[in-house]
Amino acid sequence: MSNTFQKYNLPSALLGALARMQYDAPTAIQDQVIPIALAGQDILGSSKTGSGKTAAFSIPVIAQLMSNPEASVLVLAPTRELAEQVAGVMTTMVSGCKHLRTLLLIGGEPIGKQLMRLRSPHNIIVGTPGRVEDHLCRGSLHLRNTTFLVLDEIDRMLDMGFSIQIDKIIKRLPVERQTLMFSATLDRNIERLAGSYLRRPERINVEVADNEVKNIQEESFYVSESGKFQTLLEQLSQREGSIIVFVKTQIKADSLSYQLQKEHYKVQAIHGGLKQHQRKRVIEDFRNKRYAIIVATDVAARGLDINHIKHVINYDFPQAAEDYTHRIGRTGRAGASGFAFSMISSPQEKRLWRIINNEPVEREGSRSFGQNTRFNQFKPRPFNPRRSFSN
Ligand code: ADP
Ligand code: MG
Repeated sequence: MSNTFQKYNLPSALLGALARMQYDAPTAIQDQVIPIALAGQDILGSSKTGSGKTAAFSIPVIAQLMSNPEASVLVLAPTRELAEQVAGVMTTMVSGCKHLRTLLLIGGEPIGKQLMRLRSPHNIIVGTPGRVEDHLCRGSLHLRNTTFLVLDEIDRMLDMGFSIQIDKIIKRLPVERQTLMFSATLDRNIERLAGSYLRRPERINVEVADNEVKNIQEESFYVSESGKFQTLLEQLSQREGSIIVFVKTQIKADSLSYQLQKEHYKVQAIHGGLKQHQRKRVIEDFRNKRYAIIVATDVAARGLDINHIKHVINYDFPQAAEDYTHRIGRTGRAGASGFAFSMISSPQEKRLWRIINNEPVEREGSRSFGQNTRFNQFKPRPFNPRRSFSN
C-alpha cells in the first residue's frame, strides 16, 4: 500500500498506525513540521484550525519516543476536550508499542485516580496547564527528565489566562529539551513567549493548509442584466489564469461562449446538453490549458476536479446558497488561492448574497438600490484590479 509518510523514515509501528488511521498523505503543516522536528529543532508552527496540527507534532515526537525508551513528552492543551483529543490521537499512534504509555491529566477528573496512574510508568503526558501544575505542586509529577514539550494552541491557552501556570510548569522542565509550539494565530505576545520558551525556533507558517481550508477572495458587483457582458469583458481583461464563468441555462452557456469567441477569446461551453464524449473533450482541453475559459451551468460543473481554476465568475448569480458554495469550490483547490466575482442584478440576488455572507438581511423589497454600485462595503477585502494574478 502506498503511503507518502514513508518518505520520513518513520518506525514501521508508526507507519502501521497511520495506515490504520487512514492518514495516507501528510497535510501541508505536517509536511513542513515533521522533517524539521525529527531533526531535533524547536518549532513555532502556525496554521488554521483543522489543518492537522495534532499529527504534525505527534508523529515526530512519537517517532523519537519509539526509538528512545528513555524519552518522554509533555503536551499542554487549553481544554479538557482538546487534551482528550490529543491523548486519543497519540494513544492510537503508539498502539503497536508496549513501552509507550499515555497519561491524561485534566481537571474535572478525580485527582486520586490520576495520582494512582501517575505511579505506573508513562512517557506521554497530555494535560491542561491547571491540572499539570497542580500535580507539580503536590509533588506527584516530576518533569525533570522530560525530553519534549508541546504547547498546543498556545494562543487559546493565553486567552484563557494560563500564562502563569505555563511559566511555572516550564521552569520545572530541563533546559535541554525540544519544544514545539503551535498556534492558530501569531501575534507579538506569542512571539515574545517563543523567545523565552524556544531555542532558535524554526518558524513554520502555513497560510492555506489543504483542500479543506480555502483561500478565496470573494467580491460582488451590481450590474443590470444588459450591462453584464461589458462587465465580463472588463473582468476577463484584468484576470490571468483559468476562468470558469457560470450561467443559468444551457442556451445561455452556448450563446455566451459564442459571444466571447467573437471577441477572440478561446472559450468552450459545458452543460448537461452535451454528449458524454463532448463533455469529456471540453474538460480535457481545459485541463490541458487549450482554453483558458469555460462557460458552465451548475449541473455540468459539479465534481469538476480541475486544480488550476483561478477565477470563478458568476455571470448569473446562483439560485441557492448551496450552488454558490459548489461554484466557488471550483477554485482555491489544493491549497492554491482563488478569486470569485459575482454579478448581482436583482434585489433577490442581493438578498441571497447577504445570506451567503452571513450578513443581516432586510425584508424583501424594503429598499431599492442603485445600479453599478460596488458592494465593497459588504466584504472586508475589496477587489484590487491592479493586483497580479500570475499563479
Ligand atoms: P488542527 O489541530 O490543526 O485544528 P487536527 O489535528 O485536529 O487539526 O486535525 C483535523 C482533522 O484532520 C482530524 O480529524 C484529523 O484526524 C484529520 N487529519 C489530520 N491529518 C491527517 C492526514 N494526514 N490525513 C487525513 N486526515 C488527517
Ligand atoms: Mg489542534
